[in-house]
Amino acid sequence: MAIHKIASFPSLHYSPFTTTRSHRVSSLNCSTTSSSPFTEKHSIERYQRDQWLYANTTTANNNNKPIISSNLGSTREDDIALQLPELKKLLQVLREKRESEGKCAPGNVFLVGTGPGDPELLTLKAVRVIKGADLLLYDRLVSNHFLDLVALHARLLYVGKTTGYHSRTQEEIHELLLSFAEAGATVVRLKGGDPLVFGRGGEEMDFLQQQGIQVKVIPGITAASGIAAELGIPLTHRGIANSVQFLTCHSRKGGTDPLFVSESAADPDSTLVVYMGLSTLPSLAQKLMCHGLSPETPAVAIERGTTLQQRTVFAELKDLSEKITSAGLVSPTLIIIGKVVELSPFWPMSTKEESYLMQA
Ligand code: SAH
Repeated sequence: MAIHKIASFPSLHYSPFTTTRSHRVSSLNCSTTSSSPFTEKHSIERYQRDQWLYANTTTANNNNKPIISSNLGSTREDDIALQLPELKKLLQVLREKRESEGKCAPGNVFLVGTGPGDPELLTLKAVRVIKGADLLLYDRLVSNHFLDLVALHARLLYVGKTTGYHSRTQEEIHELLLSFAEAGATVVRLKGGDPLVFGRGGEEMDFLQQQGIQVKVIPGITAASGIAAELGIPLTHRGIANSVQFLTCHSRKGGTDPLFVSESAADPDSTLVVYMGLSTLPSLAQKLMCHGLSPETPAVAIERGTTLQQRTVFAELKDLSEKITSAGLVSPTLIIIGKVVELSPFWPMSTKEESYLMQA
């Protein structure tokens, strides 16, 4: 059974943000509460918005989709000059400004978590930092609402992954962050959820710190917390779940074998939260059951949680994969497995939760 998010959920109709929105964003017309930034379509729109950056290097392929040359220069300066001429200019301006002010210290890089999508789940600290940024790099899971906060002078750069478009490698992202920080800019790297939970924030932090750049992390509400709260699921609950595990079965090489995690994860007193788990769920579920987790364990998959496009599929573990397929859930989808799921007021099956609560 697929359940859509209740459309009248009040927090998404209220925008706490001021309207300092950059023209670069508003021209896209996708910053509304009725559209989701998480889709392929919106990724393409975001790349199209950034075409001013790529004017000299864009060619058309058979589908008339712009493809950015992947023939990268060897040094970071060459890369920026060749691929991002406007950013090169911006770098120059920042350097001149810094020299004229007699400053020589590098700028700061902030890794900022934006939460799972509901704009009201952004922290006050994140709002302050976003407003003060010179350059912002962001990817697919960052809601358009947050881009409304960006100052007019600041530059936004989409670095998400989208089929048919150039997507920046992790190394290129590192180099961009470094070049701008060295030029004294305040650089903000926006990441959905929390930057240090399956966000590769640790790698970016590591790289920059090794180059002598100070990195500050502004935590965000990770998908597990934001979505569990939305559905009224306590991730731990006395007598029902005494621990919670965040895991992913997504391998770096894109394989579908989750395996080594399932033995320790098959604990009936623990809640499992699976990130990036859609493609590996059939295999994971099978392994969990083989390692002793009951096939009747309650579970839920949530697509685009905390946004107006949220869809949920509640099912027992043994049926979850099939029901997800029938409902056609797509990424980003989070999966929560454990007895606590039955405590959700949206759990559509029997009322076993009463017996759990009685035992607690
Ligand atoms: N740093 C992020 C996680 C990035 S990994 C965080 O702390 O939340 C990306 C995965 O997170 C997605 O594939 C999905 O499993 C999960 N996710 C993030 N936001 C989500 C959302 N709004 N709805 C459902 N799943 C989400």
